[in-house]
Amino acid sequence: MPSPLHLSNEIKRLALDAGFDLAGVSGVSDTSEHQFFPQWIADGRAGDMRYLETRNEAGHLKRASLAISAPWARSVVVCALNYNTDQPYSTHAGTTSQGWISRYAWTQRDYHDVLLAKLRQLETSLTAHCEQAGIGTPRTWCYVDTGPIIERIFAKYAGIGWIGKNTCILNQELGSWLFLGVMLTSLELTPDLPPTDRCGSCTRCLDACPTNAFPAPYQLDATKCISYLTIEKRGAIPEDLRSGIGRQVFGCDICQDVCPWNRQAPLTKTPEFFPRPKLVNPELEWLARLSLEEFREVFRGTPVKRAKYTGLLRNAAIAMGNSGEERFLTVLESLSRHNDPIVAEAADWARRRILAIGSDQGE
Ligand code: SF4
Ligand code: SF4
Repeated sequence: MPSPLHLSNEIKRLALDAGFDLAGVSGVSDTSEHQFFPQWIADGRAGDMRYLETRNEAGHLKRASLAISAPWARSVVVCALNYNTDQPYSTHAGTTSQGWISRYAWTQRDYHDVLLAKLRQLETSLTAHCEQAGIGTPRTWCYVDTGPIIERIFAKYAGIGWIGKNTCILNQELGSWLFLGVMLTSLELTPDLPPTDRCGSCTRCLDACPTNAFPAPYQLDATKCISYLTIEKRGAIPEDLRSGIGRQVFGCDICQDVCPWNRQAPLTKTPEFFPRPKLVNPELEWLARLSLEEFREVFRGTPVKRAKYTGLLRNAAIAMGNSGEERFLTVLESLSRHNDPIVAEAADWARRRILAIGSDQGE
């Protein structure tokens, strides 16, 4: 019978064979980070992301503890894939006619599919290994974002990286451009150790956030975060946050772009994450003029679909308003007559903003 340590090492080797860049093992116990989660939800920091609030029959938040959501699990295998590419960071790219789609979303294929396929490969090879070793078939569940588990916390305890002040997982060699996938298993494994927090006295991410979404280091108010506002938020974006959105049309990379640990971040070796050229610094007018059919075609197989067609038009209108470019007044005029009242209102706001910026510059 192989020891838990032997099995842990074997699983990590199999994960690298499946194409992951990093793999580690965490225990299943609740951690100090888990204790903050119920309060974070109670404070309304998750906004409209109701899926984070799913509860069991007794009313306990499933994501608050694996003892609630998967009491059979004995270990968590956390795998990571680097998605960085050689495109400039958002803080050094683009012109006022262009918007920004978050680095993770301009890929050739949706990362959920890519990671899940690799997790399935790991699951298959692990099962074969266990059966050969006479342990029988272990129970496993694989997730990419969809499980009742806060991946980041287990990534820390699996040794993948520390949780930075920007709340992202940071690896000393790879930086923070990491997709995470997890496999819960009934196997007793030897966990890795959490890495040292190397943020030190740095506060670049906190200082750079345009919407002040960090109430404190290591805490994120998702309702103020541009990623939430441009992707998850349905309906109108609160007016007081619109100017801070700048020209971000899907997600935001700023608090990762400014992080010193990403300065030398290596490039991905996963071809599925190479960029679709049109989605890097996309032309705002092109986005604003997409038909529904073109939207479906352009963003097929990318996470951008999550924003929905009218969500992307809303975001493009706000970005055009923030650009201050008078050349956008015509397309905004047409968007202000859009059937969707949220798009129409955003376009109206954007026109007023461009005129206000113009008159400020004229004074
Ligand atoms: S993603 Fe952008 S808006 Fe969100 S916390 Fe980071 S810098 Fe702020
Ligand atoms: S920018 Fe600085 S404080 Fe923020 S995550 Fe990176 S190292 Fe930590």
